[in-house]
Amino acid sequence: IDFGYQQVDKEAKQGLVANVFNSVAKKYDVMNDVMSFGIHRLWKRYTIDCSGVRSGMKVLDLAGGTGDLTAQFSRRVGPTGEVVLADINEAMLEVGKDKLRNLGIVSNVTYQQANAEELPFDDDTFDIITIAFGLRNVTDKQKALESMHRVLKPGGRLLVLEFSKPEPPMLSQMYDFYSFNILPKMGQVIAGDAESYQYLAESIRMHPDQETLKGMMEVAGYENVTYTNLTGGIVALHRGFKF
Ligand code: SAM
Repeated sequence: IDFGYQQVDKEAKQGLVANVFNSVAKKYDVMNDVMSFGIHRLWKRYTIDCSGVRSGMKVLDLAGGTGDLTAQFSRRVGPTGEVVLADINEAMLEVGKDKLRNLGIVSNVTYQQANAEELPFDDDTFDIITIAFGLRNVTDKQKALESMHRVLKPGGRLLVLEFSKPEPPMLSQMYDFYSFNILPKMGQVIAGDAESYQYLAESIRMHPDQETLKGMMEVAGYENVTYTNLTGGIVALHRGFKF
């Protein structure tokens, strides 16, 4: 019976997440800039700087959405490397594909519709995997971390960029107020969609905090797992290796 309930919950969550990203796909980039005051660009640049990317590497940008990280990786891996932009949502993938093609990024990027929980790649395929603001939307996060571990090459690294738990109590209170009161209103005005941004706030609150996610990565088999708080812990970058 338990299993039955879990199935229903799982399908409900996947359906909800699909609706959210179908709804926000076209406005996603502009909302990102507005909601984070442009700071998401700095968080993403820091992720690239910590990735150890080099020419010729094979990178998976998982839950890559509109492809911000893919664009930067594509430049760094060069013509001998490859970047796979994978996402479960077709609408987000289409927006990403159009955006990257308009930027002239074509030769070393491929696109794959994929669920992070069951990645359709061979074992030991990628030098680097990033999942930016994606893991909190995945229903079975542990399974997804294990799936990523399987497709990483030995010596490869996973970077998880995700909202986390703000450390200073004052910041935490201000952030809660912003997420639950201001964010849905901004979503309504800019994207005509308050509900999706209400979901965003709730999914951030439900997401495992820094130490819990570190533990989950260790259970999935990653080694030397560390994290860095960004903007007071509003966001954290977790890093782990497969040896
Ligand atoms: N990485 C991009 C960025 O940082 O701008 C996009 C992040 S967006 C907030 C989250 C993305 O996760 C969406 O494109 C969504 O479709 C994708 N996603 C949600 N659940 C997923 C899953 N189970 N497997 C793969 N992608 C998923």
